[in-house]
Amino acid sequence: MRFNFTPLSLAFCIFKGRFTLAAPAELETQGATTHHFTELSSVNISMMATTPMPKWLSDVTGLKEWPGADPPYIPLDFIDLKAIPNFPPRPAGTCPPDRSSCSFDCFKCISFDDAYTCPVLSQTFDDGPSASTPKLLAGLDHKTTFFTVGMNVVRYPEIYNQIKQNGHLLGCHTWSHKFLPGLTNEQIVAQLEWSIWAMNATGAHLPKWYRPPYGGVDDRVRQIARAFGMQAVLWDYDTFDWKMETSPPSKTASQIFNDVKHWKASGSTGLILEHDAYASTVDAGIEVSKILGTSQMTVAECVDSIDYIKTYD
Ligand SMILES: [Zn+2]
Repeated sequence: MRFNFTPLSLAFCIFKGRFTLAAPAELETQGATTHHFTELSSVNISMMATTPMPKWLSDVTGLKEWPGADPPYIPLDFIDLKAIPNFPPRPAGTCPPDRSSCSFDCFKCISFDDAYTCPVLSQTFDDGPSASTPKLLAGLDHKTTFFTVGMNVVRYPEIYNQIKQNGHLLGCHTWSHKFLPGLTNEQIVAQLEWSIWAMNATGAHLPKWYRPPYGGVDDRVRQIARAFGMQAVLWDYDTFDWKMETSPPSKTASQIFNDVKHWKASGSTGLILEHDAYASTVDAGIEVSKILGTSQMTVAECVDSIDYIKTYD
């Protein structure tokens, strides 16, 4: 019954771990928001799915093929949309009139069950799997965390499972990398359920951790994700590694390495945001790994919690 998402007791998962309520001082609210939207162009997604659509998923969805970038909403009996906080959808780049929705992208607001930091300065990689991911896997000699885009998961299932076999932690980064606060409740459910189904059909597990694209999360998004048993993962430090791919490049690898050395010198704790979407960001990730060393943690280790809601291996 792989389609049954019914989560474990939320209390078991949510409160077992290290969480801090204060927002990290290193994050710049407006700067990080503005720049991160440019990451839109860095996500190389398409409908070239190679993971077979399993029968259990066809039975649940009535579909025979994986959907495109706007997946259909499939109602699930354990999600009560009427229980979702009534904060209206807001387009990317806009902010609510007050802080009541606890927006991370606008106000760096952290909720009680968000994971955003780590006792050991540790890398995380978003937007894959990609054709560049195997080089990163070959270059890492410690466990790390990958937040994967569902459409890329079903496009690169062998690479996804290579990540898993190498002992790394896999988390959800939505189905097609949308700015979640801009979507309706039904569209947010669709982004999460299809990405979870992609991970389940490919890697036989249900994710515990998700990273909202662009840091776009508020209490409406969080409450929907909690229905799946998932918790948001944010970050302390952003490498802006994708800026190496803008034209002209607006960041160099040496700038990234200098930033990382500075972060290491100033406390040596926290989560670092990187991407495994490009050869350039993968090469930088391997060098950053050498700077930080092998004591790094996965996100689950950072907060002393579980890797997945459920595994079927
Ligand atoms: Zn992303």
